Amino acid sequence: MLVVMRAHATEEQVQAVCKRVESLGYKAHSMPGAQRVAIGITGNQGTIDPGGIEEMPGVGEVISVSKPYKLVSRDVKEDNTVIRFPRLPNNDSEAVIGGSELAVIAGPCGIESREQAFAIAERVQRTGAKFFRGGAYKPRTSPYAFQGMGVEGLKIMAEIRDRFGLRIVTEAIDGETLDQVEQYADVIQIGARNMQNFSLLKRAGRARKPVLLKRGMSATLEEFLMAAEYIMSEGNYNVILCERGVRTFADHTRNTLDLSIVPAVQRLSHLPILVDPSHGTGKRNKVTPLARAAVAVGANGLLVEVHNDPEKALSDGMQSIYPDQMDALMVEVRQIAAVLKRSVAPPVDARETAAANTR
Ligand code: PEP
Ligand code: MN
Repeated sequence: MLVVMRAHATEEQVQAVCKRVESLGYKAHSMPGAQRVAIGITGNQGTIDPGGIEEMPGVGEVISVSKPYKLVSRDVKEDNTVIRFPRLPNNDSEAVIGGSELAVIAGPCGIESREQAFAIAERVQRTGAKFFRGGAYKPRTSPYAFQGMGVEGLKIMAEIRDRFGLRIVTEAIDGETLDQVEQYADVIQIGARNMQNFSLLKRAGRARKPVLLKRGMSATLEEFLMAAEYIMSEGNYNVILCERGVRTFADHTRNTLDLSIVPAVQRLSHLPILVDPSHGTGKRNKVTPLARAAVAVGANGLLVEVHNDPEKALSDGMQSIYPDQMDALMVEVRQIAAVLKRSVAPPVDARETAAANTR
């Protein structure tokens, strides 16, 4: 159920409705919009007894939401969710996900050493990307494959944030690692293999950092949105969706990147959706073309694996592009974004030059 407040409802009126909802044994989620506040009600097994809410001051209407997902839905929040990352001490440019500037997250599949991570981060930062990715905990198909550096990897990424002003995106694979990741990262990634790990989703919902949720390898659109609903239902409204390819019969790529899910999500949900052409194709030579297509289809950003020595990478080397290729990718997507009246941040050298010219 959804309580839509009147345009001029006061904060006290909103609070009073939330209190009434809670007193009825449900959970109230107040979602401010550009015009008015909506209050999503969850926690009910069946239909909700509105308990006189309709008559309360400031209430416009009470409507039932027929879709299984509520908080992720545009019915509850019409405007796009924009997640803002505050300025860092060594980087005066704000980063956003979901705004008119596309978010670019780039870095290796896994953090392998301080040297490797720093060498890649230095190149990533120069491209204009504002987010650095790297796994410290790797969910691998084989228990004998590289499992990540653990906390050491997280510490390296925290150093990277300090040194390069990049926000850190890294994966948590269970409740324990989420406790660690929450301390060090700016964005907590939940991987494809965990998209329906409901206890992990609930734990991420109680975290105070934004969550990047990757689509499961065989997840339908509804299952994907329901996974996001799990996170939001616990009170974390900063969820970023990420399409990373699904399993099909195609054998020319590792996965089939389902770009059509981007407009499908945007129609139903206010949450931002990124595209990962690296896992989505599994092949280095297909990453840039699909990154171009992702921007053209209207994605809110990209997640790309980059490695300085992909032949020797401990995971996902085949799909990791070289730093020079990342430079070229950024030049191309910047031009495509402009067609859609969106932008991709300029390379850092150019940014410095522009700043110097205005001095
Ligand atoms: C990753 O981002 O390195 C990763 C493991 O992704 P996914 O969960 O999409 O396979
Ligand atoms: Mn990977």
